[in-house]
Amino acid sequence: MAPDPTPQGEQVLNQSPAFTDVNLFTTDTPLREAVAREGAADAAENLAAFGRIAGSAAAADLGRQANENPPRLRALDAQGRRLDRVEYHPAYHRLMGFSTAQGLHCSTWEHLAKGSYPQQGAHVARCAGSYMAAQMEAGHCCPITMTHAAVATLRHEPVLLRSVLPKMVARSYDPRFIPWQKKQAITIGMGMTERQGGTDVRTNLTTATALNGNGGKAYAISGHKWFMSAPMSDAFLVLAQAKGGLSCFFMPRFAPDGSVNRIRIERLKDKLGNRSNGSAEATFDRAVGYLVSEEGRGIPTIIDMVTLTRLDCAVSSAGLMRQALARALHHAQHRTVFQKKLIDQPLMLQVLADMALDVEAATALTFKLAAAFDGHDDPDATAYRRLMTPVTKYWVCKIAPALIFEAMECLGGNAYVEEGGFPLLYREAPVNAIWEGSGNVMCLDMLRAIERSPEVLERVLASIEALSGGEQRLKSAVEGVRIMLAEAMQDQTRARSVVELLALTAAGALLQAHAPPAVSDAFLATRLYGAFRHSYGVGLGGGDIHGIAARATPALG
Ligand SMILES: Cc1cc2nc3c(=O)[nH]c(=O)nc-3n(C[C@H](O)[C@H](O)[C@H](O)COP(=O)(O)OP(=O)(O)OC[C@H]3O[C@@H](n4cnc5c(N)ncnc54)[C@H](O)[C@@H]3O)c2cc1C
Repeated sequence: MAPDPTPQGEQVLNQSPAFTDVNLFTTDTPLREAVAREGAADAAENLAAFGRIAGSAAAADLGRQANENPPRLRALDAQGRRLDRVEYHPAYHRLMGFSTAQGLHCSTWEHLAKGSYPQQGAHVARCAGSYMAAQMEAGHCCPITMTHAAVATLRHEPVLLRSVLPKMVARSYDPRFIPWQKKQAITIGMGMTERQGGTDVRTNLTTATALNGNGGKAYAISGHKWFMSAPMSDAFLVLAQAKGGLSCFFMPRFAPDGSVNRIRIERLKDKLGNRSNGSAEATFDRAVGYLVSEEGRGIPTIIDMVTLTRLDCAVSSAGLMRQALARALHHAQHRTVFQKKLIDQPLMLQVLADMALDVEAATALTFKLAAAFDGHDDPDATAYRRLMTPVTKYWVCKIAPALIFEAMECLGGNAYVEEGGFPLLYREAPVNAIWEGSGNVMCLDMLRAIERSPEVLERVLASIEALSGGEQRLKSAVEGVRIMLAEAMQDQTRARSVVELLALTAAGALLQAHAPPAVSDAFLATRLYGAFRHSYGVGLGGGDIHGIAARATPALG
């Protein structure tokens, strides 16, 4: 055998191959099954094509570049005139191009523009795309999510919607800084949070004064927003106090005379993660905005947008967890420690299998919720959406940072180094729990939903029982939910426990109905009244850890 000519110090031994050029759809069994089961089987081919792009080495490199070169504010020109522009790295624009071409900002609304019926499984198919886009690069998903969700609020203003919709459903991306009327494709942002309150938007100080007296839709809006992401969006849906109370407005980047609307971008936040996505602090100085719905109905109007963004938070967190788990499994298959592959070390295999349970549960729960959005006016789907949006967002987003950290540990030191891309996943994870309603807010929202309509709980529990097939642990868990809810209605401090139990019960029922017994048995044994204590690899010893890990392992061709 010819001697290896590589100098000794440069030999790369026992390192796992790069986890790139992986089709994020075809290699993910729980995802493929969830998509098919929840009504979007027909989208499989299209999703496989997007999975190839989203998992490509080229896309990963764009993600790296977009985060290493975050957006920069150009507040003033050389002579001191206001510019209020934000410049993005070309890699960010390329990522926006991928996701808009896939229709992630619009695909569930295309029927509105065509005047046809909604496509079956449209939300499920879109969420599958978003699940993969988050794995490709999560920061650019913020404007994609907001644009998609904005349509739900704009439906309250049909005349306005008719004019903007064709540009919102265009499957292209047009980053030019010109009035939206002149563009082929537009994106929409959201401005609710102010310094004194993000959750309690009733404290908003921003004011809106009707420009044409009573009855006109145009207003002059003055005040500030403390977080306003994607500041180069073509318009924002903002909240401001009008005479009749807190109201929702469509605020374009350009005023009707073609001048730049008086939205001053004061600063871009220097953020923990989500760095490719600019998040601005902005001041409105008599900026023009158009009333959406009626004065005083700001919260009920914008909540339709918020609800859809909550779904996307769960989708994104589930996707980030999948990517972290897949990388951990891939590494363990290739890395030898003490003469054995890591995956063959029982203690490591148990950790991997344990994480796989949560990722599959989160995926099942998230896609069940997406399917409820496809259920439109069906009473069961409506109840599921109302109750399980906050529950799913709470649980899936809450477990993501810990799971991704555990997956990071599986890779050892390499996972801690920027080049490998793992830090990006880790830094992205916490924000999904914070924005669009933080953990406690989700718990209170669940209680409010039940207080207003106890029927939503009955419908959701009936759907869980139908999936459970009489399984005893699930039966007791449903009873536990009822008991704990009764307590939580009297004592808010119980709310987190009941949200967690409801999420675990709903996820457990889905696994019981649809996953192999190795997965469902281990999940029910450990998550419902089991030994699981938010530390992976504890108490799964009796389970089929080989079977669980094998199912989650990316099926590379
Ligand atoms: C990267 C990033 C981008 C963002 N982009 C946007 C954007 O584009 N547009 C926008 O409008 N906002 C945006 N936000 C703001 C975000 O939505 C808010 O930060 C979030 O809603 C929380 O509001 P807050 O920061 O004011 O915290 P607070 O409202 O002060 O909440 C702090 C904590 O108190 C808890 N809490 C609140 N009420 C209760 C209660 N009654 N009981 C118990 N606990 C409670 C919350 O759960 C939270 O954990 C962004 C935030 C981040 C981090």
